[in-house]
This record gives sequence, C-alpha cells and structure tokens, in this order.
Amino acid sequence: MRILITGAAGFLGSHLCERFIAEGHYVIGMDNFITGNIDNLTCLAGNSNFLFIRHDVANFIFVPGKIDAVLHFASPASPNPTSPYGYTNLPIQTMKAGALGTHNTLGVARSHNARYLLASTSEIYGDPLEHPQKETYWGHVDPIGIRSVYDEAKRFAEALTMSYHRYHGINTRIARIFNTYGPRMRLDDGRVVPNFLKQALRCDPMTVYGDGSQTRSFCYVSDLVEGIYRLLMSDEHNPVNIGNPNEITILELAQTINKIVCNKSEIIFKPASRLGDDPQRRRPDISRAKEILGWEPKITLEEGIRQTIPYFHEKLGLK
Ligand code: NAD
Ligand code: UDP
Repeated sequence: MRILITGAAGFLGSHLCERFIAEGHYVIGMDNFITGNIDNLTCLAGNSNFLFIRHDVANFIFVPGKIDAVLHFASPASPNPTSPYGYTNLPIQTMKAGALGTHNTLGVARSHNARYLLASTSEIYGDPLEHPQKETYWGHVDPIGIRSVYDEAKRFAEALTMSYHRYHGINTRIARIFNTYGPRMRLDDGRVVPNFLKQALRCDPMTVYGDGSQTRSFCYVSDLVEGIYRLLMSDEHNPVNIGNPNEITILELAQTINKIVCNKSEIIFKPASRLGDDPQRRRPDISRAKEILGWEPKITLEEGIRQTIPYFHEKLGLK
C-alpha cells in the first residue's frame, strides 16, 4: 500500500512510519513540526520507501500519486500548560488539526477511495463517570474547559469520520488511544512520563500534581503500534479502545520510576488546579480490541520504562 501518515515527525507517527515501511509499504509522512521533530525520522532518511512532506494539515492537502490508506495522527497531544508544546498553549492550532485536519485527510481518503484511520483519544471520555471506559460510554466533557480544545476537536473528528463513513461510504476506523509512552516522546512536552523520567534521571525531585491519587493506564509504544496496525487491517468501523488496562495512580508511577532509576530525591506535590479539568480515573476496557483484533498489550510498565530510559539518557546528554 501507499500510506499517508500525518503527524509523522511526532512520537507515535514516527514509530508508525517505521512499522509500515518494515511491513513493505510505501509511506508518505506529513508534519508541520509544531510539536514534532525531524530527528524522529532520522532512521528513515534516504529510505526509498519513504517521502516526507512538510505541510500543515489544516490547509488543503495534495499528495502525489495514488494513496491506499490515510492515518491521521497530526495533533498536539500534551495537556500541560507549563510546556509551550502543550495543547492548552496551542488551542487554535489544536482545534484546527482535529477539525480542519480531519476534514482534509478524510477528503484525501475519499478522493483516493482509501481506507482511513483516525487517532482519537481516551480524552473523548473526559473525566469519566463510568469506569473502566467502554467504547459505548458517551463521556463527561466540559465543552469550554481547559482541555476542551483537544477533547472537543477529537469528538468532532470522530463525528466527521463516522459521517464520511455513513454518507460517503469511506472505509474508516477510529482508534481511541489511551496514554502511551516510549522513546521519541518530546522531553519538554510536559506529559507525565517524560517529566518524571527527566526528573528521575537528573536526580531531581518529581513533581506530582495534586495528591497523586488520580489514575492512568500506560501503554508501551510497540504495543500501541501493533494495535493500530491490526485495526487498519481490520474492517471495524466503530471506535476501538487501544491501551493498556493496567491502572496505577500517578504517585505510584512516580515511585515506580524512582525505584527503577534508583532516584532518592523526594516527591513534590504541586497544586492540582494547574491542569484544570484533570481526569481523576482512566482505564480502558479493551474487550473489543481483544475480540476484533486479537490484540492485547504485552509489555509491562517496568519493562517499558526500562526500554525508554536509554533514549532519555542520550537526549539529556547523560553517560
Ligand atoms: P506528538 O506531539 O509527538 O505528535 C504529533 C505530531 O503532529 C507532531 O509531530 C506535530 O508536529 C504534528 N502536527 C500537529 N499539528 C499539525 C498540523 N496542523 N499539521 C501537520 N502536523 C501537525 O504527539 P503523539 O503522542 O505522537 O500523538 C499523536 C496522535 O496520537 C495525536 O493525534 C494524539 O491526539 C493521539 N494520541 C496520543 C496519545 C499518547 O498517549 N501519545 C494518546 C491519545 C491520543
Ligand atoms: N502529572 C503530574 N506531574 C507532571 C506531569 C503530569 O503529576 O509533572 C499528572 C497530570 O496531572 C495527570 C497525569 O499526570 O494527572 C497524566 O498527565 P499527562 O500530561 O501525561 O496526560 P493526561 O493523561 O492528563 O492527558
């Protein structure tokens, strides 16, 4: 297949480009570098099955040659307002990537009669009242809260994707991705794993927002990529949760990383209000992914953190 992947210079996009090329496909990667980095694509430089196009997906997209599949991953993804790369500091760009970017990429899929996969998110469930989250849950989202620029753009993107499927018959898929981590995450995007790893490797205190009792469920990137690959190859049009159901508190995450890195520094508690509508609990119900895709994550949190450390070591200039 000839596959268009948007957000190609980002964390997940770059791993997906590599995987699809490894499977023998030709990949056109697209990105405007708003939160991504060309260094993430170094391993593909000069690869004859890869073409990179620098472009903002909010503008009309032209792709040379025939396209068989489109994966729309372009969007800022960190909520953290302390980082210039957090979507709360890129509100309009985030809404445009989710709304106009989804419209334009669906347009590409329609004009090429290509299959389409939208990178949606567990954030569409908001601060969930149902736990764990099944795909049938409609969510609990503040339409004007700090996170709304991301949540509502993704909810619009899902609705538009289903509209193109129902009205135009486009062969679409929706992946609801839960917190994923691994090498190539931006060190300064403010998400919890890069923040904690950076702090632990520098022997600095870890910053836990609130009392650390809020939970997340962390998926290692290789598991996520496998889930996305299988979803694209499937015929499933309804949303599918892709994530690791192993739920832990943020305080436990800090303690786990400190233990792995042997960091003896203290944990500092910062005001929770800095993230506004920070979801209190998050865990995917992955029954559908198991049943439809025969997929479930294999990498434990400890293994995944250990596999991520060398990348952070190198980027921090540590020996
Ligand atoms: P990332 O910031 O590393 O990657 C996003 C990429 O999209 C960046 O390279 C950025 O430059 C690019 N981009 C943003 N707006 C663009 C635009 N208008 N035009 C072209 N390129 C643009 O983040 P990530 O973690 O790799 O997330 C990728 C996708 O997966 C996002 O859509 C995100 O919503 C989704 N997602 C990620 C997670 C996660 O835990 N990593 C969870 C849920 C959903
Ligand atoms: N968090 C934290 N310290 C940090 C960064 C994040 O305690 O330095 C918390 C944050 O408040 C949230 C959780 O970690 O409860 C996950 O945050 P992240 O930014 O990774 O993404 P989210 O899952 O909120 O989208």
